[in-house]
Amino acid sequence: MKNIKDYDLQDLQEELVSIGEKKYRAEQIFKWLYIEKVKTFDEMTNLSIELREKLKDNYSMCNYNILKKQESSDGTKKYLFDVLDGNAIETVLMQYHHGKTVCVSSQIGCKMGCKFCASTGVQFIRNLSAGEIVEQIVAVEQDIGDRISNIVFMGIGEPLDNYDNVIKAINILNNQKGLNIGTRHISVSTSGLVPKIYDLANENIQCTLSISLHATTDEQRSSMMPINNRYNINELMKACKDYIKITNKRISFEYALAKDNNDNLEDAKRLVKLLKGMLCHVNLIPINKIENGQYSKSTNENILKFRDYLNDNGIVATIRRELGSDIDAACGQLRRKNLKK
Ligand code: SAH
Repeated sequence: MKNIKDYDLQDLQEELVSIGEKKYRAEQIFKWLYIEKVKTFDEMTNLSIELREKLKDNYSMCNYNILKKQESSDGTKKYLFDVLDGNAIETVLMQYHHGKTVCVSSQIGCKMGCKFCASTGVQFIRNLSAGEIVEQIVAVEQDIGDRISNIVFMGIGEPLDNYDNVIKAINILNNQKGLNIGTRHISVSTSGLVPKIYDLANENIQCTLSISLHATTDEQRSSMMPINNRYNINELMKACKDYIKITNKRISFEYALAKDNNDNLEDAKRLVKLLKGMLCHVNLIPINKIENGQYSKSTNENILKFRDYLNDNGIVATIRRELGSDIDAACGQLRRKNLKK
């Protein structure tokens, strides 16, 4: 069965016309799905009963069941959703003063194999469809009875490895007739798929690009992130500079600080050299140690020193507040959970 949430508004209009319905029905359905957030076609009361039956027969609503919900002492919530094919995905809600942010998964599993990340070592199963990505936000909004203001593609998976579905999901999330989440409030994070960075630059959407850099030499980065063997730091930095030129937008670089690995003054110096003059911001993440992981968190002293060195040398850097670490919901802690039906 087709998933009704896989369609952006334009596709839905075309789809409805193709089944002999009027185009304006698409907008009505969009409102039911993303403003009223109903869970059945029967609730779409301004559609004829005949149309509701047709929709029921041909499309699923992709309603997720919450298999598990954990709440952190800081208000962070981690959801394990049943994606209806025997698999499950994790989604995290973070509450900041400026609004609510959802960290979404883009794939079931991940192929990137970053050594410090808990999603590594779990089998890659498949991409999530656009609707399956969007449903994470719908399901969280339904659960909390409030609206989400920001979305980060920083859950499980490599969003640029599921490019078309991620772009379509952004279009659906952004539509003013629906969830209406501004693209400026959406961040896409990548481990560095260079050709896709160019594709994204040419999309003409305003979302923020985050680059998981984490290291300043190829040797160091390749040891942490196998993707660096495919696209090295030089190629990645060139793509980032081109991205800024094309979009005129600031890039956010993620740098996870691991003790005695990438957190000393020499690293900071090299990082300044790499980023000097670029329209960017550095997000320092105290690395979260994963089960059997070889990396552990830098000392607070080193983290502050690292930040201060960057700031003193003209690179804007902030330390990411850690949310949800007590429920394994912090950066890099999400794992695909297996579900047997
Ligand atoms: N695949 C994408 C998005 C998922 S990860 C990417 O690589 O960017 C989201 C962010 O969390 C990335 O910056 C990632 O490098 C970081 N991360 C992963 N594991 C981590 C860990 N154990 N501690 C801190 N940050 C981690």
